[in-house]
Amino acid sequence: MRKHIVAGNWKMNCNFNEADELVNGIMEILEEKELPRDTQLIVCPPFPYLEMTSDYANDSYFMVGAQNVSDQEKGAYTGEVSAEMLESMEIDYCIVGHSERRAYYGETNATVAAKVNQLLKHGLKPIVCVGEVLEEREANRQFDVVKQQVEEGLFHLTAEQMKEVVIAYEPVWAIGTGKTATPEQAQEIHHFIRTLLTEKYGKELADEISILYGGSCKPSNAKELFANADVDGGLIGGASLKADDFIAIAMSF
Ligand code: PEP
Repeated sequence: MRKHIVAGNWKMNCNFNEADELVNGIMEILEEKELPRDTQLIVCPPFPYLEMTSDYANDSYFMVGAQNVSDQEKGAYTGEVSAEMLESMEIDYCIVGHSERRAYYGETNATVAAKVNQLLKHGLKPIVCVGEVLEEREANRQFDVVKQQVEEGLFHLTAEQMKEVVIAYEPVWAIGTGKTATPEQAQEIHHFIRTLLTEKYGKELADEISILYGGSCKPSNAKELFANADVDGGLIGGASLKADDFIAIAMSF
């Protein structure tokens, strides 16, 4: 059966000392408390802290993910970080298509598809974010928007490749706003995404793909969100910057 996953997206937060403290805080709690067996914890710090974070993680406490990757293989792309570089540092996961990258850096579904290809080629697991903005939700267009993002970002993949993908449904109106989707709203879209996967790849594969919820998830609401049949965990922004909150969320299954 599919994994429960709780992934922390630190975004562009923490100086080096703060990052060090945060990872240490997570480790200290995990030395005392064991996560449920089927729950995978992932920490996604900014690029400069990937090495330090993965040294600490040592493959036992949590896995490490990047927040972005280049859509190009290698070469004269100043400021970019390639999937091959991440692979050579043994990074396990990478977030792709976060709404902030779509909104501020012009990433399209085609960019997402190209980044997913790079990651899979180099053995990393993409965490692909989809989700509608407020105006789209108000116009009841959330299903069309998410369908297009899933189809254009992912449906060129073979079934073997698709098995490596994690999907995060993040309604943009709930990210960093304190507004959370209701458990019913989350389940409705997660179920919709799983139906799209079933139609394209069959039920067996669709049942193996972890679909995470993201958007103001915190210890006080994680349990009721994760209790839904198609919600397999969370992509956590703000609350992942506090070790206690992050682990409390991961203990919410
Ligand atoms: C995110 O940015 O992926 C996110 C879910 O942020 P927050 O938890 O802060 O809403």
